[in-house]
Amino acid sequence: MVCKWVNKGLVVRLYPDEDMICKINQNIGNARFTWNHLLAEYQKTYILFKQHGYTRLKCNMTTFNAMLTMLKKEHDFLYLSESSSLQQVFRNLINAYKKFFNKNAGYPRFKSKHPKQSFRIQNINNNIRLQDNMLVLPKIGPVYYRTSKEYKRLLNSSNIKINNVTIKKSNGKYYAVFSIETTVTYLEKTLNVVGIDLGLKSLATLSNGLKITNLELTYEEKMIKKCQKRLSRKKYGSKRYQKLQRTYWKWQNKKNNKIRDAYHKLSRYITQKYDIICMENLSIKDMLQDTNQSVKLHRIGLASLVEKIKYKSNWYGKNFIQINRWFPSSKNCNNCGYYNKNLKLEEREWTCPKCKKHHDRDINAAKNILHEGFRIHMENLMNLRDWGDSTVILEAIASTAREVRILNIHM
Ligand SMILES: [Zn+2]
Repeated sequence: MVCKWVNKGLVVRLYPDEDMICKINQNIGNARFTWNHLLAEYQKTYILFKQHGYTRLKCNMTTFNAMLTMLKKEHDFLYLSESSSLQQVFRNLINAYKKFFNKNAGYPRFKSKHPKQSFRIQNINNNIRLQDNMLVLPKIGPVYYRTSKEYKRLLNSSNIKINNVTIKKSNGKYYAVFSIETTVTYLEKTLNVVGIDLGLKSLATLSNGLKITNLELTYEEKMIKKCQKRLSRKKYGSKRYQKLQRTYWKWQNKKNNKIRDAYHKLSRYITQKYDIICMENLSIKDMLQDTNQSVKLHRIGLASLVEKIKYKSNWYGKNFIQINRWFPSSKNCNNCGYYNKNLKLEEREWTCPKCKKHHDRDINAAKNILHEGFRIHMENLMNLRDWGDSTVILEAIASTAREVRILNIHM
């Protein structure tokens, strides 16, 4: 049995009383205040730099630390926050700018009083403690929490290390997200390989022909739309508005939970069943450019699915291979390699003019992804001269070769 230390995030629901809610909101507010203030300061400098022809501006911790000390002197209420939670703010800000400069994200934005807010406390010298059913936070105090027996056992076991905890307020509910270090056991090898095509029509298509349909969310979406419509007619902040807002959040939560649950189950299934998993690379840059809002949200959802499969493969000792997004997965015939450049997006099925094979668009794409992923995987193995797991790989090649006739193309 191979064990591995990994980072895990555990989410537990918090049940703060009035007094606690007040303190948590103060902390959230302080984090937002610090973010907005630092962003404004930095933005001034950035604009000045830009005028002189620079495209990047170095952000560093020391500058921000000094800025924070000054900010605290000006605004007393910042002392109500645990200092690591404010330091976290500029760590986030530095990351946001890094992403922006590397063109992985848009320009950092000012935070508003959005329903989703959070702050993070680092666990230094065990200042975050768990006592019975209480989570004890520095400067805030004990908050009642509830979670599954499994999570409770894990959180209280001596075998883990709590790195930090994020207190999150989302759609009217409070949560604590623990970032912990713990061990996981590798899953058994199955010698199966798979290529997965993600799409809008069906959620995922596996190279063996299995299609996983999209989630049925029409009812939840209908209710969300209905609430939005009614909310727009009510006076903002009124009693009736707040009541309706709670209903709106309830449906929003239901929808999100359904998606998350399904993605966790699917990613677990895939990592359990397959040793080598090949998938397309979904780029965030492309997603930001999508103009159709529902398509954009769907793609962001898919990215979270890919992320789940990726980290689970890593945890459980499986190989995860990402294919370049420019790889023409749907236009190549997987049987003879013919490139069908006239294939249109709405054509779900087509027949190869060269070898006359009839294809389902998604299954063909999944098979091509598998071939390409396999090629990349072999290439990596050759380069690294790492033959540690070569028997598994070779047996897997032999078994797939029989199935999808991979050998005559790449070996
Ligand atoms: Zn063909």
